[in-house]
Amino acid sequence: MPVRSLGSGFAADGFGPGFGVVAGSLGPGFGVVAGRFGLGVVAGSLGPGFGVVAGRLGLGVVAGSLGPGFGVVAGRLGPGVVAGSLGPGFGVVAGRLGPGVVAGSLGMAQVAAADGPRRGRAAAMVSKERAGAGSAEEPTDQLALRRANLTRTLRHIRINGPRSRAAIAAATGLHKATVSSLVDELLTRRLVREIGAEHSGGAGRPGRGIALSPDVGAVGIEINVDYLAVHGSDLTGRTVIEKRISFDAMHRDVERCLDDLTEAARRSLAELVRRGVTPVGLTVAVPGLVDVARGVVVLAPNLGWRDVPVATRLAHGLAPGLWIGVDNDANLAALAEYTWGVAAGTDDLVYLTGEVGVGGGVIVNGRLLRGADGFSGEVGHLPVEPGGTPCGCGRVGCWETKVGLAELVRRATPDAAYGLLDGPIPDPQERIAEVSRRLSAGDRAATEAVAEVGRWLGHGGAILVNLFNPRVIVLGGYFAELADHLIPSAQANLARLAVASTAARCHFVASHLGFTAAARGGAGVVVERMIEDPTAVSLSAPPPLASVH
Ligand SMILES: [Zn+2]
Repeated sequence: MPVRSLGSGFAADGFGPGFGVVAGSLGPGFGVVAGRFGLGVVAGSLGPGFGVVAGRLGLGVVAGSLGPGFGVVAGRLGPGVVAGSLGPGFGVVAGRLGPGVVAGSLGMAQVAAADGPRRGRAAAMVSKERAGAGSAEEPTDQLALRRANLTRTLRHIRINGPRSRAAIAAATGLHKATVSSLVDELLTRRLVREIGAEHSGGAGRPGRGIALSPDVGAVGIEINVDYLAVHGSDLTGRTVIEKRISFDAMHRDVERCLDDLTEAARRSLAELVRRGVTPVGLTVAVPGLVDVARGVVVLAPNLGWRDVPVATRLAHGLAPGLWIGVDNDANLAALAEYTWGVAAGTDDLVYLTGEVGVGGGVIVNGRLLRGADGFSGEVGHLPVEPGGTPCGCGRVGCWETKVGLAELVRRATPDAAYGLLDGPIPDPQERIAEVSRRLSAGDRAATEAVAEVGRWLGHGGAILVNLFNPRVIVLGGYFAELADHLIPSAQANLARLAVASTAARCHFVASHLGFTAAARGGAGVVVERMIEDPTAVSLSAPPPLASVH
């Protein structure tokens, strides 16, 4: 009988008819014995109160197995010992004092015991053994496998379009019966729907096509200095809502901003419901440093926010059960750009938000670069001019003081600079329209301002090229609106300043996604999350927001 040490406990393996298996740990109070097929077994621990019994055929047992002659389990009194196994005459589990020891196996006797601190390791080993043996009788394993296959099915349909069950089975290598069962679950969860017959190309009658469902969707909402942007879409990627709402964050305190944001979110979610789409989640895009895991905005200089628990705050005002995420606006916009934008599929790209603040979303090798704390991409605060203009972040000479919308407006339309006007704050697009009008009229201040912003755009772009070697720098927000004026001088300065400019072949391109890129990316993140875990979507038919109108 092989006996191996596992952590500070013991494990024993052994099988074959008529053999017992015994495992015990050292020290009083830990004794465990388990038996199997063909032998009576008794076990006890040393010391009072720790009774452990393992049984077999026809014997009473502390923790039992299913049916006579099956499996053996040994447990003890006290917390954290449970185990069982299925299969004739096999399976032994033992536990010991201390929290959390579990073991069981199918077809082979195993005993595992470990003390508290090593519990994780022991558990991991058990799981590994399970995976190696291809057995997945433990519920959590089964669920994980099921979830992974649901994701696989959903992703296959998303990438390849509507497919019959047979075609999905052929392409994924999953068994047909498995695919049928997976599709049934996805239909119940309303994540897919059946459409007309689809020929899979093989013999036999055509199966019905399975397509992504338009009944479930998500909302992205961006809060910025002078607007809120909303994008709602369904699982098929169809845009259901897209709008921008004028908003003045400069003259509202945090609480008021959050109230307005919650209200805008509530209305948008309700609108999605009215249009027949059940939202499962919402992502808020914020121009600042975001602790994505906690949903907290750590710092948003242009909003004047510091340590604002946005996700928690919104959760109080919205329907329960809704997933709420918070992320940096440039990161979300970069994801949207990478998925749907003018440079979609370009594995190395930098997206620049052209707003009052300037942020960067950096995609490297097809993945969003987040950095150690998730704060990468704060390119607006690259120091480019020592002793320059004060920035919203408290430093001076940051890149956004040279290329941010506030600076352009201050130079091109000094009579309408930020902070000067009373009354409703103009939408950024109105400000850009005015700059464009003045450019068309040959206004000197506007022409010089745009040329200067273009040069600085190339200056900062050169730093990004030196750092990340992107194939394209996608200009979002107002940069895109004025791209024809900005790109020539930006590209020229980039070529002059970037070390590898000739070889790098990096070009500025204007985004087509407009001011709602970040919101679109936010909705996309929710959809992606839903695909990653389709079981997170409520099985019940009533939409979680049915009450919100
Ligand atoms: Zn700054």
